[in-house]
Amino acid sequence: MEWTCSHQYPHDMSSTMMVPSATMPVTMAQATPKTPAELARHRQIILLMLGDAFLWYGLFYVAILMLVFHGVSSGRRYLRHRATIAETAPENHQRWMSAIPGTPLLKKHLLYAPFWARKRAEKSGWFGSLPTRMQTLVIIIYVACNVGYISHLDWAHIETRTARMQLLGRSGCAMTANFIPLILLTTRNNPLEPILSIGHDTHVLMHRWVGRLILLNLLVHVGCWTVGHVTDEGWHGAMGLILSVPFLGAGFIGFTTGVVLFLTSLQVIRRWKYEVFLNLHIVLGVGFLLAGAAHCYFHPPPMPQLWFIVAALAVFVVERICRYLRQLYCSWSFSAGASTAIVEALPGTTKACKITMQLRQHMRLRPGTHAYIRLEAVEPWASHPFSIAWVTPSVPDPLDPEKHDDDPKATTAVSFIIGVENGFTRKLYAKANASPDAQFTTRGSFEGPYGGHHSLASYGHVVLFAGATGICHQLRYVQALVQGQRTGAVSAQRVVLVWIIRECHALYWVRSWIHSLNCPPGFLEIKVFVTRDRVVPQGMWINHDLPRFVTVMSGRPGVDVLVDTEVQEQVGAMCVGVCGPGALADDVRAAVREAQGTGREIDFVEESFGW
Ligand SMILES: Cc1cc2nc3c(=O)[nH]c(=O)nc-3n(C[C@H](O)[C@H](O)[C@H](O)COP(=O)(O)OP(=O)(O)OC[C@H]3O[C@@H](n4cnc5c(N)ncnc54)[C@H](O)[C@@H]3O)c2cc1C
Repeated sequence: MEWTCSHQYPHDMSSTMMVPSATMPVTMAQATPKTPAELARHRQIILLMLGDAFLWYGLFYVAILMLVFHGVSSGRRYLRHRATIAETAPENHQRWMSAIPGTPLLKKHLLYAPFWARKRAEKSGWFGSLPTRMQTLVIIIYVACNVGYISHLDWAHIETRTARMQLLGRSGCAMTANFIPLILLTTRNNPLEPILSIGHDTHVLMHRWVGRLILLNLLVHVGCWTVGHVTDEGWHGAMGLILSVPFLGAGFIGFTTGVVLFLTSLQVIRRWKYEVFLNLHIVLGVGFLLAGAAHCYFHPPPMPQLWFIVAALAVFVVERICRYLRQLYCSWSFSAGASTAIVEALPGTTKACKITMQLRQHMRLRPGTHAYIRLEAVEPWASHPFSIAWVTPSVPDPLDPEKHDDDPKATTAVSFIIGVENGFTRKLYAKANASPDAQFTTRGSFEGPYGGHHSLASYGHVVLFAGATGICHQLRYVQALVQGQRTGAVSAQRVVLVWIIRECHALYWVRSWIHSLNCPPGFLEIKVFVTRDRVVPQGMWINHDLPRFVTVMSGRPGVDVLVDTEVQEQVGAMCVGVCGPGALADDVRAAVREAQGTGREIDFVEESFGW
């Protein structure tokens, strides 16, 4: 039987004890039990190893389950797309209107259902936005795997002290193993994202939960050590050890950094100054990993968990390099230098800017994607994410305006609409507003595109809801669907965009783009609800210059009525999307869940701008 010597260090031989290692292979020749006591111990080791396998691989099985689910739904979408673009007759679409039996119930009660009652996206006090039931299930499984792993001890057969040392070892091991998913979930170039089709908000949610588990493991790890040493040697003796043994000193620095990291990531700090939180989080996070690596390295002999930390640091460094390379590729060329951005302050009391960035490459930008932009003239050190609202190629093909692959000189212009918050966006608006003609030009960089894993190309009927700047996300889908309709690349037969704005002036944000949408009658309908202006201001273009597919109404829409009306006239499979304030997203979610009762294929896609 193999044994591992747990936490031996020169000045503390009193705590050195032999603990069976759950992570080490047992050589069967060595492990052949001879006496009943050895047999019992052998059985215990096998149980521990099975426990490890079950708990660690549990996560793997969840990922496989998600992959299978995603594979089946993607396969169905692919088949539907092929079938409905080849044969556009209404009967062909209606064939895809019925959902696979059982899936509406699954969507209503698990996939789209908020964890509790009706609220999900709308912030609820200290908790922020809540997970869906599906996300909750994944979190519960993940937490159970971790708690199960660290508490899977030989409680019955070993004295408390040994159990404590086992707990110390297991919590340390679980903590380091969690570093890799923790870092992966912060990456923008995460290969799992397109494979599992998970959005940035799910990423952030899982990152937070993995972080909380690491904190839990850290507290258990340090708690076990402290209880043992303070009992034996008192606080003074324990502090003496920390100061004299490098392995313990590094552990202490790691513990302190971890606690500060947690405290500075609380919502109160994030809301106070997001940039401060973000930069502190990165610096403290790297410090925590380095201290953990030193803790493992200085342990005699170095602990194998060191490799988990090295792998996590490698993921961090490689991903940062990918970000910079991507940024360089999109925004810089030898002949033209860096990209330029035109920033305009938009009219109206809802403060917003429009940025049009001329990229240095031609790029095919999927709808639903976002990019991180950095501007030389305003906070050049910070990059912020914004949804791509509109794409204009420099050399459009009359049939497919996005296709210009053959022209080596072709580039792409990308536009964003930016609502004013309290930091970068406020400075941007102020600078543009103070500039001649309320606009200025600066150099900038574009890093993206990211996200956009939900293709709407296979749906016969698309209903999109947007609140205020949420229009950016949805308008790009509308642009792609209208272009796809002309080229026969999408299945859509009817597209409805519902946009809720406070004042009519917001229509100026998208005026020229809406005018350029060229589609057959009945294909596109844009319903604008203005909640604050009761009367259309004089001279507004909407009085005399409204495209025929746009209607402007005052007041709030009845979201459930709108969804219900579209479901009554559903053409083929339907997708309902929302991007806007949490309350709007929750209303749309509730309406879509209600509509699942019809047994039809109705999918729900949600995008949020918050973390
Ligand atoms: C995927 C995605 C797409 C987005 N698309 C749009 C869009 O099309 N139009 C739009 O107006 N807004 C969009 N946002 C929100 C936008 O990124 C923030 O409003 C902007 O970063 C605020 O900057 P600030 O310094 O003025 O904010 P602050 O007032 O400092 O902070 C307000 C909030 O903005 C977010 N934020 C601030 N800085 C950053 C940062 N560096 N990285 C990430 N988030 C940050 C935080 O949630 C913070 O709580 C999007 C956000 C995300 C995540």
